[in-house]
Amino acid sequence: MTRYGLRVGRGPRSEETFWIADGEVVHGDLPGFMEVIDPGMRALVGQAGKLMPRPDRIADQAAFAEADRLTLQQALDALDLSPAERSANEAAWVGHCNGPLDQVGYAAAIRWTAATSASWEVMHEASSIYRLEDGNAGLAQAIAADLKGDIRLNTVVTRVEHDDTGVTVHTADGDRVRARRAVLTLPLNILHELDVQPPLSAGKLDASRAGTASQGLKLWIRVKGPIKPFFAYSTKDHPLSVVRTEFVGEEDAVLVSFGADATRLDATSVDEVQRALKVWRDDLEVLEVASHDWNNDPFAKETWLIQRPGAYSASQAELQRPEGTVRLAGSDLANLWAGFFDGAIESGLRTAREVTAELRPAG
Ligand SMILES: Cc1cc2nc3c(=O)[nH]c(=O)nc-3n(C[C@H](O)[C@H](O)[C@H](O)COP(=O)(O)OP(=O)(O)OC[C@H]3O[C@@H](n4cnc5c(N)ncnc54)[C@H](O)[C@@H]3O)c2cc1C
Repeated sequence: MTRYGLRVGRGPRSEETFWIADGEVVHGDLPGFMEVIDPGMRALVGQAGKLMPRPDRIADQAAFAEADRLTLQQALDALDLSPAERSANEAAWVGHCNGPLDQVGYAAAIRWTAATSASWEVMHEASSIYRLEDGNAGLAQAIAADLKGDIRLNTVVTRVEHDDTGVTVHTADGDRVRARRAVLTLPLNILHELDVQPPLSAGKLDASRAGTASQGLKLWIRVKGPIKPFFAYSTKDHPLSVVRTEFVGEEDAVLVSFGADATRLDATSVDEVQRALKVWRDDLEVLEVASHDWNNDPFAKETWLIQRPGAYSASQAELQRPEGTVRLAGSDLANLWAGFFDGAIESGLRTAREVTAELRPAG
């Protein structure tokens, strides 16, 4: 952000907040909801700084590895919480983790919180509240403008052959590109589908085949205005577990919403989305919906990285290990902000530096 002078700001401050306690909708405010989730958050991730004191490095503490065996649901179930606290915490975590909590690793919650000085409140703000004021495209455009090499969009790589002297990359339109090094930045879930010769290590391919837990929904909803900015939390089982206002105007407002499982809702249907919002309130009129089916996009097959239990311990170091002239990079294997733009930048910077050092003439 600093490098490109991009403006960072916060979304609209919530003036009312809805959540569900013991099957009833509570109409309160955000501090009230934060109070409900506070005991669960503290118990769940209060030790994140101890379990992962250096989230920028690969964790090797035994206590972290032990925690990494659990699902987030198991970790939540082990806490002494009231049903209302439990349900509110679960909904909040679906918003962050974008997957069913019984498939999400507890380590995901630890990693996110460790990355924000072990404060769950800062984690919540950093991941949910702040945004690029002029949109995300400006970041991609700024990076592209900074690049000295070529960018070939819509060029599908079908095969990668590597040996000690370099790499030959084959494209779907029949081109071959020879280079001294290649950095593969495919999303983890499709890495194993790429024909790499000699094949990537079993550890890397197993991590890809096992897949991430991220399979949820992020859906944009335009509703008739004016409305007051709000947050809303339902339960982990609803099609939409979290909804909040992202832009508020006189005529309309844009909401952003999250669910654990993208198959629970037809995200192209205004009627279905209208019904999903009725969980909290029936005064919203849906005008338009927008989303992308990332889970069925052949170039992604996942949303943002959320690992399954044990995945970090099994594969984090291996995914970062070079294989001769080929390396992997990307947000999915970042240390600090895996699953965020920042993670892609972190991983890209590290990998580029390592490759540059390797190719620098000796002496
Ligand atoms: C719905 C959603 C919302 C998100 N919201 C946020 C957010 O608010 N903030 C945030 O920081 N992060 C967010 N993320 C996460 C963020 O988008 C990712 O972490 C980031 O884009 C990862 O960057 P990457 O370069 O590692 O991988 P990607 O962006 O996935 O890039 C991989 C590229 O490889 C291409 N590719 C795949 N196969 C081939 C092939 N065979 N040949 C050639 N190219 C190929 C793909 O088309 C893609 O362009 C979100 C992600 C999703 C899905």
